[in-house]
Amino acid sequence: MLDDGGLRALREAARLSPDNLPLRRHLAEQLLAKGYLADAEAEFRAALLLAPKDVDVTAGLAEAFVRQSAHGAALAALEPFLASPGYPPRLGIIAAKALLGEGETGKAAYRYYEAISRDASLEDPELAARLAIPVPTPSAAPADPVPPSPPEEEEVERSKHTFADVAGMEAVKESLRVKLLLPLQQPELFAAYGKRAGGGVLLYGPPGAGKTHLARAAAGELGAAFVNVGLADILDMYVGSSERNLHATFDLARRNRPCVLFFDEVDALAARRSDMRQAHARQLVNQFLAELDGVDQNANEGVLVLAATNAPWYIDAAFRRPGRFDQLVFVPPPDTAARAAILRILCRDKPLAEMDFDAVARATEHMVGADLKGVVDRAVEVKLQQSISAGRPIPMSTTDLLAAAKGAKPTAVREWLATARNYVLHANESGAWDELMPWIKAKW
Ligand code: ADP
Repeated sequence: MLDDGGLRALREAARLSPDNLPLRRHLAEQLLAKGYLADAEAEFRAALLLAPKDVDVTAGLAEAFVRQSAHGAALAALEPFLASPGYPPRLGIIAAKALLGEGETGKAAYRYYEAISRDASLEDPELAARLAIPVPTPSAAPADPVPPSPPEEEEVERSKHTFADVAGMEAVKESLRVKLLLPLQQPELFAAYGKRAGGGVLLYGPPGAGKTHLARAAAGELGAAFVNVGLADILDMYVGSSERNLHATFDLARRNRPCVLFFDEVDALAARRSDMRQAHARQLVNQFLAELDGVDQNANEGVLVLAATNAPWYIDAAFRRPGRFDQLVFVPPPDTAARAAILRILCRDKPLAEMDFDAVARATEHMVGADLKGVVDRAVEVKLQQSISAGRPIPMSTTDLLAAAKGAKPTAVREWLATARNYVLHANESGAWDELMPWIKAKW
């Protein structure tokens, strides 16, 4: 059957010394290189009996399987290696091909990016293209495109804020405590009930209502690292770069566990796939889903994923499945009492005269946390100038805040609620927006 003289001689030599591992491996590799796939598979199997943990033999066997479209068998052969974090990256590339063959594109991309992030020489443009990764459109691409550079690693943040720095929102804090903090603080209790820490929370509400502030405070409350991801950190027009950035961000969080990984404006990364016309945008969503699931059970252990959006109705329903963003939490615009509490927190380190925070809260209807911060900042500026002129610190008073509030315009809470009403009243079959209902029905 083998018409190649060299191969015949090799095979004969291997028959005479069946326990010679290097010889058998060499024969198997030659068979594979020349395309005798079934023979290569048989030889690799025989070699694996001699050395069950041999990386080269495993790689060869898996490759032979992939080339015969036996993708499940390839994954089974690779599995013992892939389960440990420091596995040889080239095995990840073969796994990516096998996963692709199985139709698991998201997981394939995950493996591929993990592999090339550890060994850039393994980059395989053809494979990357098959992962349906974006090709820059001619108008977007510069005349002489430079290859994408690996994303710059941002430093993780150590948050100084805790829940004590977040005014009001008791219900929101309580649900985050149960979801995020207790499982890590009391793992035995949760283990006893067979519950694992994990799964993410999607915070939604009008802009400026304190979603980012809350996420940062959750990290501080837990003593966890904080990774704050904005759209600009992820989206990139180069082939595969967005997926690669996303993977690198998850990896950064995983290396710094316990960690709160926070995605702002997540609707842009997790939009409904049915709304997308371009395959590459869908690919990013698939990659995001695969990262949330992790390739194995422990991949995201100790990584708490929080995300914020002003437009939760645009998020693909797949993100709301268990283990992903399985909890939706509404971060409401503050009522009068909450505004007074926010003002108290914002002013607490400033020199103050007698303060009537309730009066200021009443004068700042429809304002959210971000607006109130603007009011306090403006009042502080005025006070600073007066103090410089007077040559002594002049404490801030209720009148100063009221004056600053007069000139300020609330951001678009009312408009946001009007938009929300449109979506919620027409599509609340699953009860996902129940929390929003009282706000929608109230007069604003
Ligand atoms: P969002 O992420 O919802 O757009 P942010 O978290 O950026 O809003 O809120 C803007 C600022 O408003 C925060 O940096 C914080 O100073 C202040 N703020 C908002 N909500 C609160 C709150 N509940 N308690 C204290 N400060 C708040």
